[in-house]
Amino acid sequence: MTENFRFKKKFGQNFLKNAVIVTRIADAATIEKNSLVIEIGPGAGALTKELCQRADQVLCYEIDDSLELVLDKQLKDYSNVDVIYDDFLKRNVLEDLKKYSFQHLYVVANLPYYITTPIITKLIDEQIPVEKVVVMVQKEVGERFTAKVGSRDYGSLTVFLNYYFEMEKLFLVGRGNFVPQPHVDSVVIRLTAKKDRLEVLDLPFFFQLVRDSFRFKRKNLRNNLKEYDLNVIESVLKKVHKDLTVRAEQLTLEEFVALSNAFHA
Ligand code: SAM
Repeated sequence: MTENFRFKKKFGQNFLKNAVIVTRIADAATIEKNSLVIEIGPGAGALTKELCQRADQVLCYEIDDSLELVLDKQLKDYSNVDVIYDDFLKRNVLEDLKKYSFQHLYVVANLPYYITTPIITKLIDEQIPVEKVVVMVQKEVGERFTAKVGSRDYGSLTVFLNYYFEMEKLFLVGRGNFVPQPHVDSVVIRLTAKKDRLEVLDLPFFFQLVRDSFRFKRKNLRNNLKEYDLNVIESVLKKVHKDLTVRAEQLTLEEFVALSNAFHA
């Protein structure tokens, strides 16, 4: 299918060549009836076909319109797929979704790695009502997204993602499974939207507090949160048997929420 295709590095084009992995990714979304699946970057359509077989409707965004011939051919047997040739990051996705009626919305994709975080951030910021996100990302990025409290990779992004989603690392995919072969290995992760999010009284303040807590990785809260009322912080930490010498990476989502809410009591 891609014999004469010239892969474009600038679009992060590393296509999956292992059919087993394609199937595992599609299965990991456990797509229910009355579903719409968004795929970002269908490439040559390997994953798209699998999604068409599982979902009622599939909506793809592909930045590279030179893939149109390949995708037309590859998807000719499916009438439940639309491909929009545009930059996903620039689209008004909520507007695009108005054309569809569905009960369950999923995002399933082998993401272009250079924009993984902007894509996830867009889903959150624009309140795209997605239930589950199953994506293949660069291994290191996946480790950061799914890091546990106290680990080296745990950072402000991990805390934000934990606020919105249950995060799971599903399986690793070696670089040899792609054409052309990338310089990194990958991991498939699943983000399941939380139905009952913790109550945060002031969301922008919470985000700022978390960001500030992680400002200097080696510093403790006393140093990173100098600008805040440290008495308030100390009294919250005391309740969980911690003090101002604690570092941000040792605090759970619940503890950050408690810290943030204490300023709005
Ligand atoms: N899904 C295919 C597969 O698994 O073989 C291709 C995955 S490849 C890693 C990423 C795909 O995303 C490429 O087809 C690339 O052209 C497309 N892409 C890159 N940036 C994009 C963007 N901003 N919006 C939509 N598609 C994009």
